[in-house]
Amino acid sequence: MQTLSFGKVCFFIKCLINAFFRITMDSFLEKLGRTSQRQFSFELLPPPKGKDIELIYNAIDPLVEYKPSFISVTYHREEIAYKVRKDGFIEKKTIHKRPGTVAISAAIKYKYNITVVPHMICGGFSREETENALIDLHFLGIRNILALRGDPAKFETRFEPEADGHHFASELVDQILKLNKGIYNDDELLNSTTTDFTVGVAGYPEKHFEAPNAEYDLQNLKRKIDAGAKFIITQMFFNNQVFYNFVEKCRKAGINVPIIPGIKPITALGQLYTLPSSFFIDIPQELVSNLSKYSQKLDIEKAGIEWAVKQAEDLYNFGCSNIHYFTMGTSRIIKSIIEATGIK
Ligand code: FAD
Repeated sequence: MQTLSFGKVCFFIKCLINAFFRITMDSFLEKLGRTSQRQFSFELLPPPKGKDIELIYNAIDPLVEYKPSFISVTYHREEIAYKVRKDGFIEKKTIHKRPGTVAISAAIKYKYNITVVPHMICGGFSREETENALIDLHFLGIRNILALRGDPAKFETRFEPEADGHHFASELVDQILKLNKGIYNDDELLNSTTTDFTVGVAGYPEKHFEAPNAEYDLQNLKRKIDAGAKFIITQMFFNNQVFYNFVEKCRKAGINVPIIPGIKPITALGQLYTLPSSFFIDIPQELVSNLSKYSQKLDIEKAGIEWAVKQAEDLYNFGCSNIHYFTMGTSRIIKSIIEATGIK
């Protein structure tokens, strides 16, 4: 009989332990409303093209010991750029500034055994390309997706789907849920493998910028839940009352899935202007005043962290057991916040 080496036995035991302790997104979501244990998750961006995945690991390493409930990885669609060539002609180029969402998600999952939630968007994808991306995720063992429409491309005045692509995130949710039942684009495929994705979607406490009003936006959020999404991660907000009102309206509208608040600590004065114009959110005057007192980077960061800690404390006390942080790779800041909110 072949004997197993010590290394192989250790590997086997590690796999068993991992499988035993692995918390699936479904069980995490199920416990969300019932636990008072404070939890956190965070969003990461793939590194800019040309940079190494070490950037991602450096952002995760300091936070691993605090056991994040999941890490989400953003998706960045291709952009059109015009470059002046040496001969003076202008060349139109398609560039992908931050590729690697799927690979990074798999790398995180297998390096850290942390639940990972890659973002998928409709923009730039036909249904067929979406299906192939879903198959990649499934083969990689990734079970969770944040399904988004994506913003209009830089040259578009309004969002334009690809030919045969999705117009709205609810259609993407629908496609994913169909694949979970083994329904592929090609309806002649027989005995097709089913997938088991858990899908989340975005919610906007201050309304999505294109929606004519909050009620209209809420009905569209409900479409995504009715299509089968199991959780909502919100856009950043700086006034918790806005979030509480949003949760109340969601519940009244029959949206009963967990709503995970998204928090962004402000780390630079410039963000007082860029965040409202990019994300269509309000920054309370008190926060503007707190930050505007300072000119030194560290003082500004400290004031931004204090505000985020105050928000997080209040949200935990309100009953949100998980807070999702938009980090932009700044794990040092997130570490200060989670330590200040008592996460060990
Ligand atoms: P949808 O839910 O499709 O809504 C878009 C607009 O259409 C809304 O105004 C809605 O009211 C309206 N609408 C929806 N359905 C209908 C319908 N049937 N009929 C008429 N109107 C309808 N973008 C990226 O490119 N990559 C990312 O990784 C990314 N991550 C994000 C993470 C979070 C937590 C959030 C909050 C946003 C993220 N975004 C990302 C931005 C997001 O893609 C944009 O906000 C986009 O403009 C809308 O996406 P959505 O999924 O909310 O769209």
